[in-house]
Amino acid sequence: MTDISIRITGRAGRITLQRPEALNAMTYDMCLAIEAALNAWTHDDAVALVILDAEGDRAFCSGGDIAELYATGTKGNYTYGQKFWADEYRLNHKIFHYPKPVVSFLQGFTMGGGVGIGCHGSHRIVGDTSQIAMPECGIGLVPDVGGSLMLALAPGRLGEYLGTTAARMNASDAIYAGFADHYIPEAGWPALIAELEATADVQRVAARSVATVPGPLQTAQPDIDRHFHGAALSDILTTLRGEDSDFARDTLKRLGRNSPLSMACTIEALHRLRGPSLTLEKALDLEYRFTARSMEHGDFLEGIRAAIIDKDRAPKWQFADQNVPATAVSKMLMPLGDMALKLGGTGMKIGFVGLGNMGAPMAANLAKAGHAVTGFDVAGTTAPGVAQADSAVQAVQDADAVITMLPNGDILRRVAGDVIPAMAAGAVLIDCSTVDVESARAVAAQAEAAGLLSVDAPVSGGIGGAAGGTLTFMAGGSAAAFAKAEPLFDIMGQKAVHCGDAGAGQAAKICNNMILGVTMIATCEAFALADKLGLDRQKMFDVVSTSSGYSWSMNAYCPAPSVGPQSPADNDYQPGFAAELMLKDLGLSQQAAAAVDADTTMGAMAAELYRRFVEDEDGRGQDFSAMLPRLMARGHGQS
Ligand code: NAD
Repeated sequence: MTDISIRITGRAGRITLQRPEALNAMTYDMCLAIEAALNAWTHDDAVALVILDAEGDRAFCSGGDIAELYATGTKGNYTYGQKFWADEYRLNHKIFHYPKPVVSFLQGFTMGGGVGIGCHGSHRIVGDTSQIAMPECGIGLVPDVGGSLMLALAPGRLGEYLGTTAARMNASDAIYAGFADHYIPEAGWPALIAELEATADVQRVAARSVATVPGPLQTAQPDIDRHFHGAALSDILTTLRGEDSDFARDTLKRLGRNSPLSMACTIEALHRLRGPSLTLEKALDLEYRFTARSMEHGDFLEGIRAAIIDKDRAPKWQFADQNVPATAVSKMLMPLGDMALKLGGTGMKIGFVGLGNMGAPMAANLAKAGHAVTGFDVAGTTAPGVAQADSAVQAVQDADAVITMLPNGDILRRVAGDVIPAMAAGAVLIDCSTVDVESARAVAAQAEAAGLLSVDAPVSGGIGGAAGGTLTFMAGGSAAAFAKAEPLFDIMGQKAVHCGDAGAGQAAKICNNMILGVTMIATCEAFALADKLGLDRQKMFDVVSTSSGYSWSMNAYCPAPSVGPQSPADNDYQPGFAAELMLKDLGLSQQAAAAVDADTTMGAMAAELYRRFVEDEDGRGQDFSAMLPRLMARGHGQS
């Protein structure tokens, strides 16, 4: 292949990109050739280190070659692009974990796909002409090729700034932001390469490194942090619009060019990634969720059209007013199930106990993602892709992780008593049921005494979230236990918050569900009132779902049949989330409130209303949103 030169010179495996006329943009073939070379050199004693460089003085590599992606994508073929990205990310991952030093020389433009090959090695060298950037939001993608790892690790909110504005970094800023390690004047590069080939001594790189003065981005860090700390793109835009300064004006101009959906997803992705359990694998997985969907649901094809096909530089982005709803972000970043990025690692062995309304779809999602899941439920229920065991003890044999999804604390204690002695040392017990804080702590203590890790990780999101892999997990336990469980949370959900020590997850859950119980009743009361006022239910939904009365109960789980998204109301109030489970949760919050003397008047009223519904009025076995027909019936004269 003429686009790339692969050879062994002295002690070095040499990879030189040689498409200078195309700014060394990386084609699919080049990507595969680099991977093949790295594979061949892994166990080749003749190769002590790898040197990555490029011909020409304008660019190390300006990105991936995207013309082919456009040609296939506009014909409705999305699998070509998905395969390209998956193979490219596998290469990025390989460079990052390569067992021998990888030294890269990054002159001129190093952008996008160029960062993926140039900035994951062990010794990343920049020079006088270096300009490094992650410009993906400008073509309707998100920073990918593992770049989101560096962005999440960059000081303060620099990652959000670089990812959304596509700003270029000079050598000094690239080192500051964590995209490069050493500044060495380019005139000295040929001699250094010759030394490395001859000696394989990578200490020579640091020896030639020259200190730099702070770059413009480092200088702008206070401005960046002040404006980019918000929870979402809209917060960032609001603070920028509220300030009359050159920085705000320039930044708004930059943001105005890029895809709002891409920018909003970039902010969300960085927030999810940042934290102690960040890994390249996690970054690539999240990036791929977006890129795999980018042609069909994102702005990618329109972005390429405007940038390199028609070259009109006037892309027609979705959400052109820069108001990107949170649901649009969630849809782009939700797990891909069996299409998830596979980097060659092996799946975990998982035991799953409790395959009910929630457990069955959660277990199915884990199986779809490539894990070996064995399940057990006393009712004999199963889940797609999940092997069935004859007992809970059999389901957890040799498992790396055991997940329980059970009705209450008493059952959890019994099941835990059976399975903990049968679990392998070092395995993690993850209880996702909603139970009282004391049961959660008792089970955690028992697991710890048996040499296991344990996490209480109740969920929010309902059966829709369990099926779609969009649950929120609230976790309590040690940092080590959380880190081991987190990759599984990433598959079953879209967010996992480490709330504190054992029991903290359950504490968060009962507070959340107290709000849910109260808002569901309020939502049902409002529908019943609307009926009596002659207000059409659909109109009421249209107004409230976009007004200040909106809530999850209204918008995602509407209690009125045929209104809003599919919910148990459309299925004759089959649960869903059974009224007796809501009563249980409200009881747990009242129990906790009494223990610490907290005033929860509304919670107490909600608990009483659900108690009556479940115990006196045939509500057991109905979804908790069946409070609406119950209120309507009472409205017709019942006491
Ligand atoms: P569910 O009743 O549908 O499922 C519980 C399952 O556990 C049942 O299939 C039951 O047969 C099984 N089970 C009971 N005892 C068992 C044992 N000893 N061994 C094995 N299996 C056993 O309930 P669900 O809706 O799936 O909820 C499960 C948990 O998740 C509850 O703690 C609930 O509060 C919580 N939760 C539910 C929702 C929801 O929307 N359904 C939402 C968030 C949290």
